[in-house]
This record gives sequence, C-alpha cells and structure tokens, in this order.
Amino acid sequence: MEQVWKDRENLNKNEIAKLEKDGLAIIDELPQLAKKSFEDIAWDDVERLKWAGIYAQRPKNGLFLIRIKLPSGQLNSKQAKVIAQLAKQYGKNEIQITIRQCIQIHNITLADAIAIRKAIAEVGLTSVGGCGDVPRNILGNPLMGIDPEELFDTSNLVNEAVEFLTGNPEYSNLPRKFKLSISANPHDVGFAGINDCAFVPAVKTSHGETVDGFHVYVGGGLSRDPHLAVKLDFFVKPEETLDFIKTVITIFRDYGFREKRTHCRLKHLVDAWGKEKLQEEILKAMPDLEKGGRDYARKWTYGRFHGFHKQKQDGLYYAGLNVISGMMSADALEQVALLSEKYGDGQLRTTNSQCLLVINLPKEHLKDFEKACPLSLKPDYLRGYGASCTGNKYCNFAPIDTKYYLKALYDYLGERHDFKAPFRINVTGCTHQCAHAAIADLGLVGGKMKKNGVMVDAFTLSIGGALGKEAQFGYTLKGRYSFEEVQKIADLLIADFLTHKASTESYAH
Ligand code: SF4
Repeated sequence: MEQVWKDRENLNKNEIAKLEKDGLAIIDELPQLAKKSFEDIAWDDVERLKWAGIYAQRPKNGLFLIRIKLPSGQLNSKQAKVIAQLAKQYGKNEIQITIRQCIQIHNITLADAIAIRKAIAEVGLTSVGGCGDVPRNILGNPLMGIDPEELFDTSNLVNEAVEFLTGNPEYSNLPRKFKLSISANPHDVGFAGINDCAFVPAVKTSHGETVDGFHVYVGGGLSRDPHLAVKLDFFVKPEETLDFIKTVITIFRDYGFREKRTHCRLKHLVDAWGKEKLQEEILKAMPDLEKGGRDYARKWTYGRFHGFHKQKQDGLYYAGLNVISGMMSADALEQVALLSEKYGDGQLRTTNSQCLLVINLPKEHLKDFEKACPLSLKPDYLRGYGASCTGNKYCNFAPIDTKYYLKALYDYLGERHDFKAPFRINVTGCTHQCAHAAIADLGLVGGKMKKNGVMVDAFTLSIGGALGKEAQFGYTLKGRYSFEEVQKIADLLIADFLTHKASTESYAH
C-alpha cells in the first residue's frame, strides 16, 4: 500500500508509531508481550493491542478487556456458550454488550486474552479490529433476514464487508477508527446519523421499474465534537455496496487528517471538503453511480426491540430482552443461549442498544420461553430505554461511576412520575460519549467541579436529542451541575413536559 500521507509534516505521535510498525503486527507478538509485566510494555505496544481488540482497562495495572466482534449482532448459541464460559473462567462472570453490538470480557491478563482469542476463533469469532484505527465492528439491523419491515435482507452484504475488511492490511492504518453501519430497516436501527459511513434503505423508480437500494450518510460521530452525518446524493444498489465502502474508506485512509489526534475522524474531512468535493472523489472511482431515489424511512425506534414480535417467517417470533446498560452475568448469557436451543434454533442477536434478542421462536413456545428467561421482556419506560458507558469501573477516561448515576436517576424519577412512553436517559462518563448523551431525551456527560471548596462529580446536560428522520443533537444547557441539581432539573423538565405535551409528542419532538 502506498502510504501517501507518510511524508506529511506534523504527524501526531500515534501516526509515527503506526508508520514504525503496523498495528496488526501485535497479533503475532502477543505471546512475547504476555510474558512482560505491564510496566515493561511500551506505550506504543499498549496502543497496538487495540488492533487485536484488547484494551488496557482502569486502573492500568496489567488487566485488560477484550472486545469480541459480532457483525450486525449475529451470534449463535454455541458462540454465546463459549463466550459465557470464557467470561466465567477469566472475566469474573461478567460480560458487557457494547453500543456496536460487540461483547466485552473484562479483567483479563494478556495470557487470558490469548486463550480467549483461540477459543473464540474455534467458533468463528474474532476480536481483530475491535478497537484501533481500523474499520470497527459493522453495525446493522439485528433483525436482518427475519425483519418483516426490512426493505431487503442485508446479511450477505454485511458478511461480505466483514470478510473484506477484517484484518485487511490495506486498511489497518486509518487516521482514526472507521464506523460503518448497514441496515435496510426503516426505523434507523443502524443509527445512521452518528456513523462514519451508513447505508440506509431507499427505493428508486426508473423506466417504470422500482429498485431497492441504499442512500448513504457520511461523516457522523459524537465525541467532543459531535457531527450529524451528511446525506450524499447517490443511490447505491446492493451489488455496489462493497465497492462504495472500499471507495469511502480509501478516501479516508489517503486524505483523512493525521495531525491533531482529535481532528482525524472522517467527519473532519467531510467538514473541510464539503459534500460536493467528496462526491466528486467518489465518482472518480465509481463513475456509474446513480443519484436520486426516495428514503424508505419511518419513525426512529431507538434500536429497542423489547417483547415478542412476529418475524417475516410465518409462525416465528423474536424475543427482545432488556439488558440494563449492557451488563449481564455470564451465567445469564449461558442460560439464554440454552433457552434459544430449547425453544428456538439457537440463534441470538445483540443490539446497539446493548440488549439481546433470541430469534426463530415458534409461537407455541413463547410462554415457556418467557417464564424461564432470566432477562425481562417488558421493562418499564425508564429502565428499558436508558444507557450508560463503562464508567470508572474499567475506563481510564471516566471521572464518574456512570452506572451508579443512571440507576440513581431511574429510582429518583421513577418514584415521582408516571411514564407512559419511553424516556431515554443516557449517562456517559466523558466527552467521548460512548453512551450517546447527545441523542438522548436527557443526556449526562460526566466530569468534576469544585463545590464549596471540594471536588465533586459534575455533569453537563443536554435535552431532546434524537436520530432517524428527525435527527438532532440535544440542546446543551449552560454550565455544570451536581447530581442533586441534575435530579431537580430532570424532575422539573419531565413534570413540565408531561403537563404540556400533545398526545403524540415524544420528548425530542
Ligand atoms: Fe470511557 Fe468516556 Fe467512553 Fe465512558 S464515554 S467509556 S468514560 S471513554
């Protein structure tokens, strides 16, 4: 690969480290690294571990997390049982479903990571590209193939892209991570607005014939500089999807910024170039791309699927199970996997709302399944719709315990109000926004502030964020607030809203 950026000036230190040694090289070096104490592992090697999906966790004392990729949330019971077994053996019986449909095991050593990687490979899974400046886990419709509302089945397209991108040395040195989303579901379950490149369903009629395909959004992302993705003018046919991905990712690789680390995502290139220039570049590689078409979009459903729902296959249902903040025990995952075998065909899915689905359940087994399931299918309108990031239990960036505060808000607000519709509270530990505060009804970003001379946990607040057809980031309130103040503000906002809202009005619109 010609590294067209390597002679640029002012490359940041991550770029210099990547030019010295490719991130993927770490995979072969794992056995050697595992013999060293954490203090003896060089900073750039700790960084490169991300390419293997391994992340140094808080506090930096030699323990790591491993992120297992599940493209579009695909998971079978054999894989789930292996993951559960590994989490019991190495990860304190705990697993985390992430906002990109991956599963993490925490509290592991590098020697454990080697064993885990070997065991998951035997059931067709990998952690390669779970983190790092590479294409990340492909987000998608967790219902693909069974979704009565999807425009078409995206399974083959997702799996083709996974095959092409995973561990591909052509794309192992991007300016930053690259987040791809592919979904043909009309309810924006792929969260198009906050991905680097997102395919959403669209139809086009020409010469009396209607063709199914995609519209594409680019340059979305949250973090400290949130951008809603920009919609391109193209109509991409399903068979053009992989070429389109290759084209966008190659442009990002070759022209993306590599100077200031906080200014390297695709969103910054899209900002600098503008949509027209980007489209011109894409057309150089794909001159036959068509334009136009109509969105196939309906109301955003927050990526939530609680309860039983009919599939497109006659007589079969899927079950949407709630996992609060994505944290569950390995025992519970194993139990759900066994139930999926007993009552279905052993197929599960993870969602980007950090929940779990069991699919292909015949109608006659639904009651028994629900009775035996360790997770709720009918969470309330608070607990079924909020999110929190890893927080200061494991994350080096986190100044606060996000999960504690989310639960405290659930308890406080749940006692005071009668919620008759989802109210989405997202508590994220820092401005990286892993828990998507900017698209929540009430978003909290954690920090610290001085109050009466002492440092206390503090929050910035945003309200009214959403994705889908009416995507907008939440309105950010001025200042920082203590948790007691957050409770009072939330209380007042909700009371006012519930009093004055129109019958069909959601919190965002
Ligand atoms: Fe860590 Fe910040 Fe992400 Fe939370 S939002 S997991 S604190 S990086």
